[in-house]
Amino acid sequence: LEKRLRDIEYRIPKKYPEVEFLTFKDRKRILVTGGAGFVGSHLVDRLMMEGHEMIVVDNFFTGRRRNVEHWVGHENFELIHHDIVNPLYIEVDQIYHLASPASPPHYMYNPVKTIKTNTVGTINVLGLAKRVGARVLIASTSEVYGDPEVHPQTESYWGHVNPIGPRACYDESKRISETLAYSYGKQENVQVRVARIFNTYGPRMHINDGRVVSNFILQALTGQDITIYGSGKQTRSFQYVSDLVDGLIKLQNSNYSQPVNLGNPDEHTIEEFASIIHEMVGGKSMIINKDAIEDDPQRRKPDITRATNILGWQPLVPLQKGIKKTVTFFRRELMRSRHSERN
Ligand code: NAD
Ligand code: UDP
Ligand code: UDP
Repeated sequence: LEKRLRDIEYRIPKKYPEVEFLTFKDRKRILVTGGAGFVGSHLVDRLMMEGHEMIVVDNFFTGRRRNVEHWVGHENFELIHHDIVNPLYIEVDQIYHLASPASPPHYMYNPVKTIKTNTVGTINVLGLAKRVGARVLIASTSEVYGDPEVHPQTESYWGHVNPIGPRACYDESKRISETLAYSYGKQENVQVRVARIFNTYGPRMHINDGRVVSNFILQALTGQDITIYGSGKQTRSFQYVSDLVDGLIKLQNSNYSQPVNLGNPDEHTIEEFASIIHEMVGGKSMIINKDAIEDDPQRRKPDITRATNILGWQPLVPLQKGIKKTVTFFRRELMRSRHSERN
């Protein structure tokens, strides 16, 4: 399974990948909201190959049909074009709730819609879970810690979020999403899991999502300036997507319901990160500094003691290896978009 997954992680296959055969007893009907997005599509690959029946619900705001195209028509797979802000009536055993714009430019594009998605959308998902008795995993974020005063961030830290700043539409609505999960847990006995996901990268990231990984790789590949916002002394810790998928599945199937950080503690300044990408990609780009952005968290690194102790999970893919795969993916994307421009 691991090898077959690696085969398709950065090259979308032409035909259905081989799936395991599960007996009725072991097979689950699993809903992934936002399943046509970056993380969701890798999660779907893994669960499809394990032999489950998958339902993907996506409004294609940032997700693409192409990310899951290799499963369309498969008897275990269903793709529903639906906005989670509207109620959804289906029957499932488990839910991974990932629907939400994730990169700062995307979630700031329509802040009100971002808030609706993470509040009304999450209520609909929890209402569905309550009706059918399904377990729900909420994709929360390290942004619930805001610009943290505690370093590294443990799950017991309550965070430092500006409620009216440019990032608030995302940070605060994800915080509400967590609150909703625990309220449905307490009041309605819905089984909930909360993953606080730290910066994740890999193939199928949206090429124009404005995040640092996609920006730097794209800038290096096209010989443009690599743009550091502010001093570059701020830090982030980057996790490769297959590690995240592994953690999400372990958390969903564990018996632990408190929030769990999922991230790679390997911390870098953005300045260092720019040099790493520049060196790995090569080319003639210059590294330049631009204005700092408002409310940019200055340090971010997960404390993953909880995930390690409770789930036996830890990230396995080193930065150099993950970046190499991501660069290969972006090279292909660029070739594809140049090709389609010509035709
Ligand atoms: P993504 O943008 O690739 O995926 C999000 C998906 O949700 C997209 O397919 C999008 O079309 C869909 N979507 C958005 N609004 C919707 C709506 N109203 N109804 C239905 N579908 C909707 O982003 P991603 O990086 O794959 O993120 C997945 C989840 O993980 C998000 O909830 C995000 O907040 C969370 N997360 C991601 C990261 C990261 O670094 N990638 C970090 C922390 C948290
Ligand atoms: N909901 C849904 N699918 C379901 C069940 C509920 O989308 O299968 C939505 C429903 O529209 C409702 C929300 O989830 O607004 C919350 O459901 P809940 O049962 O908690 O609230 P109520 O229906 O009592 O307002
Ligand atoms: N960043 C940068 N140049 C870019 C894009 C981002 O210097 O072209 C910085 C950004 O200011 C932040 C970090 O990289 O400090 C991570 O930004 P990203 O948008 O990827 O995610 P965030 O963790 O802020 O949600």
